[in-house]
Amino acid sequence: MGDVFVARPLMPPIDEYFEEVKSIWETKWLTNVGHKHNELEKKLCDFLGGAYVGLVVNGHAALELAIQAYGIEGEIITTPFTFVSTANAICRVGAKPVFCDICENNYTIDPDKIEKLVTTKTKAILPVHVYGNICYVDEIKRIADKYGLKVIYDAAHAFGVRYRGKPVSCVGDSSCYSFHATKVFNTIEGGAVCTNNYEIYKKICVLRDFGINGEGDTIAIGGNAKMNEFSAAMGICNLRHISDAILYRKAMAELYDSLLEDIPGIRTNTVQENVESNYSYYPIIINPNEYGHSRDDLFIELQKHDIWTRKYFYPIITEMPAYKGKYECDTPIAKSISEKIMTLPMHDSLSKEDVGRICEIIRSYYRY
Ligand SMILES: *Cc1c(COP(=O)(O)O)cnc(C)c1O
Repeated sequence: MGDVFVARPLMPPIDEYFEEVKSIWETKWLTNVGHKHNELEKKLCDFLGGAYVGLVVNGHAALELAIQAYGIEGEIITTPFTFVSTANAICRVGAKPVFCDICENNYTIDPDKIEKLVTTKTKAILPVHVYGNICYVDEIKRIADKYGLKVIYDAAHAFGVRYRGKPVSCVGDSSCYSFHATKVFNTIEGGAVCTNNYEIYKKICVLRDFGINGEGDTIAIGGNAKMNEFSAAMGICNLRHISDAILYRKAMAELYDSLLEDIPGIRTNTVQENVESNYSYYPIIINPNEYGHSRDDLFIELQKHDIWTRKYFYPIITEMPAYKGKYECDTPIAKSISEKIMTLPMHDSLSKEDVGRICEIIRSYYRY
């Protein structure tokens, strides 16, 4: 039996992609906001339900540019339970991350702990939707309104997630997406800022192109974060298959749930009320006292069977060498979760047999 990977990219049939890129040989327009780019922006507006979608070269750029577009310096409240990109983006644009703890049940920022971190320097909250679970968006909005803060979501895990029947990008001031190969929807590398604010959208367009505006004037100090036509074409194709891909992930997640539910010490993820998840990851929490082995033990055991899982997110940001000791961080729940969590293989080329085999290994490794 071959390796089972933790993630595999969504890829359209090759002929569909060839068909999509053919016209690029006629136009010879490879990048700089071409036809494919504009078509994908338009299609994503519909899919994500935002008024404006600014495509960029990757999810990290989406975060940096969104923060810059709002002109945010000062403090931004976020969590340490995320991919390092979130905190790096805050630091790299000259703002300061302030780390808030997360909730035990869904791993997103704990709204009850945000307010005591607000100071006169706080300018924004940058919550992270995690694994397809969404943040407490209503509570976050209430706090942001009370203190006049912007809310920029890191929605890298939330493509296609819906809350109360609407795409989750409708909440907050902006949502930043990643279209990296390992995400639910990919453009090989890519990302986008989704917003209802036209001014912010225009700023993203300028900032992604060195700060040059439509008239050719350089009006901001921007970098180069443009998405090329081949990536956009990949996105156009993948968008045709995304709903099926999410349904398939849902079926695999439900199969995992049913096969793991009675193993002591293994906790699976619960889909939230009023949320349609995208099942972007399949996290499990291992309680070593009940299961008889630690997360790290199980990670190695699965690896022995060529099953590749991921300690994700581990370590928390503030334990990473680049961050350690530099920021105050009172986030015991984030730390404890990061030491017990792993994500199991989840993608649209995973088979039922793979899931069955993975769960059987987890079951027979149970110690008592
Ligand atoms: C993937 C990811 C990013 C970065 O996106 P890239 O497209 O890889 O630059 C940021 N935040 C989170 C939570 C992510 O998972």
